[in-house]
Amino acid sequence: MAKLKFQTPTGMHDILPEDQAYLRSIMKVAESVSAFYGFQRIDTPILENAELYEKGTGVSTDIVEKQMYTLKTRGGDLLALRPEFTPNIVRSFLQHGMYNLPQPVKLYTSGPLFRYERPQEGRYRQLHQFDVEVFGDQSAAIDAQLIQMFVAILKDLKLSHIIVEVNSIGDSQCRPYYKKALISYLKNKQYAVCTDCRRRIKTNPLRVLDCKEEKCQQIRSQAPQMIDYLCQECKDHFKSLLEFLDEADLPYHLDPYLVRGLDYYTKTVFEVFAERSPGNPDEKGFLALGGGGRYDGLMKLYGGRETPAAGFGMGIDRVLSAVKRQSLPSEPSSPKIFLAQLGDQAKKKSMKLFEEFRKANISVAESLGRDSLRAQLARADKLGVSHTLILGQREVLDNSIVIRTMGSGAQKTVKLNEAVEEVKKLIRGK
Ligand code: AMP
Repeated sequence: MAKLKFQTPTGMHDILPEDQAYLRSIMKVAESVSAFYGFQRIDTPILENAELYEKGTGVSTDIVEKQMYTLKTRGGDLLALRPEFTPNIVRSFLQHGMYNLPQPVKLYTSGPLFRYERPQEGRYRQLHQFDVEVFGDQSAAIDAQLIQMFVAILKDLKLSHIIVEVNSIGDSQCRPYYKKALISYLKNKQYAVCTDCRRRIKTNPLRVLDCKEEKCQQIRSQAPQMIDYLCQECKDHFKSLLEFLDEADLPYHLDPYLVRGLDYYTKTVFEVFAERSPGNPDEKGFLALGGGGRYDGLMKLYGGRETPAAGFGMGIDRVLSAVKRQSLPSEPSSPKIFLAQLGDQAKKKSMKLFEEFRKANISVAESLGRDSLRAQLARADKLGVSHTLILGQREVLDNSIVIRTMGSGAQKTVKLNEAVEEVKKLIRGK
């Protein structure tokens, strides 16, 4: 085939109709779990001031340093396509004085994010996340509840082989001591790490722990661990989190080098994975489905009053591919009946009938483009409907309609204005 003139931009993808049912199930489950835990939806603009991310996410993070899509407006403002949700929601919390509401304030959102990534399988430049944030509660119970929600969503989607990794990265009291120890360890190894990490030792040493390069991971395995540097408050908080998780029967792994790539995290950080292809030895490895943590300092950084906060982002594209591999979506709205019509008059009459069925909440499939009855019945068969209504020329003249039971082929004629009631009876009687 000749190369098409237009295709999706590099790293971006269409979500085709065949994937929409999966997407709907994911959103339905995520929203119902969130509603149960008292979360309310919020939507923020896709564009925000670039400075929001520079200040919050951090200038030396990959997201801001390399991946942000920025643009200058005609008015001269420097805006960015949102690369993550947390800064937007914190900005909105402050802008709308949500600190005056009873705390904690629990919010969720979902939608596209944009990161100029190196495209590869499962890594897009327009990705989609489901995101939740809790403001105004410093207890480790909230961190545990977030992990519990994440796992509940995945379990409700029938995903198995889920792994939760947790760590604490301390706070402004204790992290500087750890950073110092880490820098002095890494300084001796600066020629053994990748060029990015050589720079990171100076700009953001914790990011070295996050690097996926093989040689950097080797260096990491001997590095000092944050857990040995936690102050009493952070230690107690972490201990409390693990107790909550134990109590809730939520299995976890401790990963002493889990830092997550962003500047604003304090204390708890976590990541959730699913086995790439359970039971299939040919496809090993884990798929990162999302992560989150606590960020008690971000509100103050944005000029607000100090407010504890925690949240997570779940990668919808990744969850979708995991759900697709493991299970089939239940499509709630597969049509119950089919409406076949013969001739123009019948086509016209069927328009009104459709509306009557819609109001009665009975889903009806049709094939208005096909004229032959055989072709229409074949389509009805394929859709697996229980009954087909046939509106032919004779029926149009005497205001009736034929109801055909697909399994047996039995047919009966009823008055057109009684069609909906008749179908209701038939469906109910099944
Ligand atoms: P992050 O916001 O970077 O912590 O990512 C949270 C989750 O979003 C990851 O675990 C992935 O599931 C998903 N994710 C992050 N970046 C991408 C991307 N470029 N393409 C697809 N999914 C992504």
